[in-house]
Amino acid sequence: MAGADIGIDLGTANVLVYVDGKGIVLQEPSVLAIEKNTKTVLAVGHEARKMIGRTPANIVVIRPLKDGVISDYEATEKMLKYFTERIVEKKGFGRLVMPRIMVCVPTGVTEVEKRAVEEATREAGAREVYIIEEPIAAAIGAGMDITLPNGNMVIDIGGGTTDIAVISLGGAVVSDSIKVGGDKFDSAIADYIKKKHNLLIGERSAEKLKIEIGTAIKDDEEQFMNISGRNMIKGLPETIKISSREIAEALEDCIKQIVVTARTVLEKTPPELAADISTSGIVMTGGGALLKNLGKRIEEATGINVVVADDPLSCVAKGTGSSLSSLDLLEKGGAFKRKKK
Ligand code: ADP
Ligand code: MG
Repeated sequence: MAGADIGIDLGTANVLVYVDGKGIVLQEPSVLAIEKNTKTVLAVGHEARKMIGRTPANIVVIRPLKDGVISDYEATEKMLKYFTERIVEKKGFGRLVMPRIMVCVPTGVTEVEKRAVEEATREAGAREVYIIEEPIAAAIGAGMDITLPNGNMVIDIGGGTTDIAVISLGGAVVSDSIKVGGDKFDSAIADYIKKKHNLLIGERSAEKLKIEIGTAIKDDEEQFMNISGRNMIKGLPETIKISSREIAEALEDCIKQIVVTARTVLEKTPPELAADISTSGIVMTGGGALLKNLGKRIEEATGINVVVADDPLSCVAKGTGSSLSSLDLLEKGGAFKRKKK
């Protein structure tokens, strides 16, 4: 018996699993906690993420895909297997109901690494495994019909990278990927607070500031949030009040880089497709798309209407899962390669 089609978004920040007919069945951070000496996995996903910045010397918390490349191959494999095995249905006497699985990997992942991902997915119980490019999956998941001879532009802002692509006939016509995303936003905020207030804060606290009061525009309505860390001069814990204007200032460089890349992609877009985009607009996906006023900044810089997709954090997973129903067309467009067994 054939199992349902499954889409896995192996993101730099989050892993999501989409099952045909069921929707998103798993959404967990791409994080593992490992015992240093024995290399045993202590926790995966949410549990492991809680440990970031809070581990004793014998435990390391790793994000194996952090910058959009597989920095720790073994850990990636372990994580993928752990999640996949959890959702691949075991029926009868432990026999697997083997599904077809499409995996979306970050754009920076090499061919060798892609094969490793395929292998790990197969070992976890897949009947057939395919790999899809992130911008294509994002566009499908955002509801665009990318199979038509029509230009669609998508900007996916994940944890490690921002991927920008113009897609037509199932393939990316122009695209670019930069290593600026939610993680860089967080470290820019932490650096800013360190320089300006002599306060050291952790990456989780920086992310909280970004999500709660972060904005891409300085003169937006001002909001405040208290944040705690360690004062560098006194060496003691301290809580201070941070303004949303300060966060906007901290994020300015990152935002400029995204805006400039979006413009460059548009400048390289063939005129017919550019004309399509000027009427259909740009769609933003990925968790970073939720940063307040970011769409507005891209709109100002490009003169093109920008919308944030519904539920931007799950677009790639949805698109990855549903792409299995249009494999032939996507293969023609070059969005993925079919692997011979
Ligand atoms: P990836 O595809 O690389 O796994 P995601 O699309 O899951 O990344 O996005 C994760 C990023 O989105 C994180 O950096 C997270 O901080 C950020 N994020 C999530 N929600 C928000 C929000 N409301 N505002 C700004 N950033 C957000
Ligand atoms: Mg993603």
